[in-house]
Amino acid sequence: MSTARKINVFGLSLKGMEDLMVAHGEKPFRGRQLFQWIYQKESTDFTQMSNFNKELRDLLDAKHDVRLPEVVRKQRDPEDTTAKYLVKFSDGAMVEMVLIPVRERLALCMSSQVGCSIGCKFCATGLVGFKRNLSAGEMIGQFMLARNLTGDKELANVVMMGLGEPLLNLENVVEAIRTISSEQGLGFSARKFTISTVGLVNEIRKLTEMRLKSGLALSLHAPIQSLRERLIPSAKDNPLDKLIPACREYALQSGDRITLEYILIAGITDTMLCAKELALLTRKIPCKINLIPYNPIVDPKGVPLAPIKEVKKGRVAAMRGTTARTSDGPKPYSPYDFRTPSQDAIDQFREYLYPRCPAVTLRTPKGRRIAAACGQLVAQVEKAAG
Ligand code: SF4
Repeated sequence: MSTARKINVFGLSLKGMEDLMVAHGEKPFRGRQLFQWIYQKESTDFTQMSNFNKELRDLLDAKHDVRLPEVVRKQRDPEDTTAKYLVKFSDGAMVEMVLIPVRERLALCMSSQVGCSIGCKFCATGLVGFKRNLSAGEMIGQFMLARNLTGDKELANVVMMGLGEPLLNLENVVEAIRTISSEQGLGFSARKFTISTVGLVNEIRKLTEMRLKSGLALSLHAPIQSLRERLIPSAKDNPLDKLIPACREYALQSGDRITLEYILIAGITDTMLCAKELALLTRKIPCKINLIPYNPIVDPKGVPLAPIKEVKKGRVAAMRGTTARTSDGPKPYSPYDFRTPSQDAIDQFREYLYPRCPAVTLRTPKGRRIAAACGQLVAQVEKAAG
């Protein structure tokens, strides 16, 4: 039988493997053994699975295979050694995953969807649009590929901040984390995962009910509802007065603080008004703040859509698009409106927050020279590694 007709068992959950073995006339415990062979012993060859009899090994070999996604391209940032991998699945769909150095270890930024339907104005992925969800197996595949690529360095943590909004693929994301963290599987603690969300109230509540112990990062980016709506289309249906309580519930359930991701965009989110509102907001939620200077989106040739340069305060309002209005009020921003703030503006913002907020970190974006992952989001990985 050709490989193309075989059913791939890679990515099946423990229950999925038990069901598979029962369908082949075996007891469920054979599924647990298969689970261990594939995820713990990383075997892809049924004929080597020595605790199965020959008849079962041959049957599995005839009907199934163990197919991981493959790396089709690699780029490495020459300065900070961040490495971006283009990963291809069996249907030809591709996503990016990024390995980011964090001191002596590495952090993995993995994707949860092919593309993204949210369309945040500052995000390269949002410009591409949504193609499909990744299966749990395709996420487990990224993890296993990454673990094999780390060499002698330890994989410290995993952040779901690559392509896609993880909470719009909630069931598969949770199944992937449960499989990876299972003692019978890869044994990588669920607490080492951070799920990054743009802030979807209902999905955060569902995640809370699932009682997962992973970290949650909220892409806040603006502490004022009207401003947030101009940056993040889904903010209108997920207002801050509902979103913050939902995140608070998650923090109480998981026993860990929420990370508030905050992009500093010159003249837009780096103002003192925003700093004051952000300080007030942090009183309502156990959190830490991660400030990320805006990382310009680049086109497929690597040319920034807006020039990478710092701007002096006061010049931004005169730039294209920032003051235009529609009949419904200020129009949503476009990538052409965004600039990296000056170092002075960054320092002022951070210094205002620092004594007023529990934990404030400023991260320099990594992988800028290879437009890593979601354009903006790679810098956040380092923070999540702690
Ligand atoms: S920032 Fe995240 S949610 Fe927003 S468009 Fe990009 S991938 Fe989607």
